Amino acid sequence: MKKVQFTICLIPLVMCIFILPAFGAETGTVVPPEDVLNTVEKVSPKIEEVAMRLWNLSELSLLEVESSTYLKDELKKAGFKMTSEGTSGVPTAFIAEFGSGKPVLGIMLEYDALPELGNEAVPHKESRKDGVTAGHGCGHNLIGAGALGAALAIQDLMKDKEIAGTLRVYGGAAEETEGAKVYMARDGLFGDVDAMLHWHPLNVASVMNVRTSAQSQMYIEFTGKTAHAGFNPWAGRSALDAVEVFLNGVNLMREHVRPTARIHYIIKNGGVAPNVVPEKASVILTYRDESRYFVEDGVAWLKEIANGAAMATQTKALAVDYYGMYDLLPNTPMAKRMQGHLERVGLPQYTDDEIAFAKSLQEAAGVEPGGMTSQIQPLSGEPAVGGSTDVGDVSWLTPTMGVLMPAEPEGIGVHTWMATASHGTSIGVKSAVSAAKVLALTGIDILLDSPFLEEVKKDFEKRTAGFEYKSPINPRIKEPVGLPDEMRSHGSVLDLKESFYKQADEDEYF
Ligand SMILES: [Zn+2]
Repeated sequence: MKKVQFTICLIPLVMCIFILPAFGAETGTVVPPEDVLNTVEKVSPKIEEVAMRLWNLSELSLLEVESSTYLKDELKKAGFKMTSEGTSGVPTAFIAEFGSGKPVLGIMLEYDALPELGNEAVPHKESRKDGVTAGHGCGHNLIGAGALGAALAIQDLMKDKEIAGTLRVYGGAAEETEGAKVYMARDGLFGDVDAMLHWHPLNVASVMNVRTSAQSQMYIEFTGKTAHAGFNPWAGRSALDAVEVFLNGVNLMREHVRPTARIHYIIKNGGVAPNVVPEKASVILTYRDESRYFVEDGVAWLKEIANGAAMATQTKALAVDYYGMYDLLPNTPMAKRMQGHLERVGLPQYTDDEIAFAKSLQEAAGVEPGGMTSQIQPLSGEPAVGGSTDVGDVSWLTPTMGVLMPAEPEGIGVHTWMATASHGTSIGVKSAVSAAKVLALTGIDILLDSPFLEEVKKDFEKRTAGFEYKSPINPRIKEPVGLPDEMRSHGSVLDLKESFYKQADEDEYF
């Protein structure tokens, strides 16, 4: 057995990362980083094609049927075996595999768009000529393309260099609503993965060594009694009144939650007309905090507030936490290794036209027209950030690390039409190609550098000592609540709601 000789390098280990190619401790296989980068370059036309195809499709969460079929076809064409389709109750989720045995390297794809964010790929607000109103404002078209590109490059290298192990691609549908990764986590589909890679477009270049928030999503519905609001209001009980009492309670609660908590909601149904006492009214609410423990605490309190609001208004309350996510767990050895690779890959080089496009977008957004970011962020000390991702659940089940690559100009946020526009241009494609390079370099290390993988696993075991995964999804829910009835295989949404009402009669929901 050939041992990896880190001792030949007299400078500190962190510098070695930039110099040493990945070694196969068992086989002695060596893959110079240049080979990895060249292989990604070779698949970059495919990355561009996929990025543009997904951008044009711009399908919403759970409805990304064509996008997922297209990605599955690309993987099958490349020689991946489709091991699961419609995975864990999510019709547009899938798992594909290449190779066999250990180690198992995972790469996660996303491909859903956001409602109302459709825009032509131009630096001003302009609806799409083809009438598509959704848009890739979070750049999941680029995630799908870049992560697929990394997988295709790693697969090529596995074939060329006879690298042992399994490369597994997870089709993480519906990230924007009820992300499939949490359903997959509930089904134990990450159990044998040695390490997982992912990435996200943003306006910075950075390793994702951060903690995102854990969160729960709640549906709260009040049922009152309808009546004519003028003739006999005393005969009615307003469900909207209950919503108002509930939300007032929520906003008083806000004063006493932890500083890391976030509560946001919309009124989904507030009645039909002012002269009809509303029989039904409902709220959708998200509760976030830095860990599942604190989120569950908050959710329990919110259920009590709903119960109190129902008592105060003589209505009935149904309060269901139907979906949730864990916070994102970092991994220090993976973060450090990825930082080295990010610095090697560097920032994309932009043409004058691309810079001009970026500056026009910034002018349209009213931010300083400085163009694209000009620096790579140093490795951060795991700061908490307010958003959430369904990668969180995966990160508690297998060592996970991701990278952020600039896909929109500085000062432009995701979930905007400006980001949609940028994600449909060569700026977005360059982001996906650069991300694919960072992921492929890290992936090859996972497959070949077994002392590194050992370190990664040790860090993971230390962080998760005594931890037991408990799914944030209510066991009664077999498939996403937002799935249209024609795509469901476990009964209609109404049936599901009825089952919660029945359960609520017996326990905590009323
Ligand atoms: Zn996103």
